[in-house]
Amino acid sequence: MEKNKECPICGCNEIGEGLFSGYATMKPTNKFFTLGSNVVADVCTKCGHILSLRVTDPEKFKWFEFFLKNKKCILQVFFKRLYIIDTIINIQ
Ligand SMILES: [Zn+2]
Repeated sequence: MEKNKECPICGCNEIGEGLFSGYATMKPTNKFFTLGSNVVADVCTKCGHILSLRVTDPEKFKWFEFFLKNKKCILQVFFKRLYIIDTIINIQ
């Protein structure tokens, strides 16, 4: 953890930590994944400037490792979607 952070706007060095959570999670841009990660923000306690944002689970954005860890689940979702697409094509 970085210490002695200073707000570039007002110079205050009392930096608090905030959390975007629940529905405000960050998700990988690939829509294939539905799981998100919470986002932590460093916030200046004087002027409210957000110094930085970071996700709590950065490994979720590493596509290949995430795939290996969740292979079974991802493949199930993938084939389910293929089935849905196939059904839609057959209807038309
Ligand atoms: Zn500030």
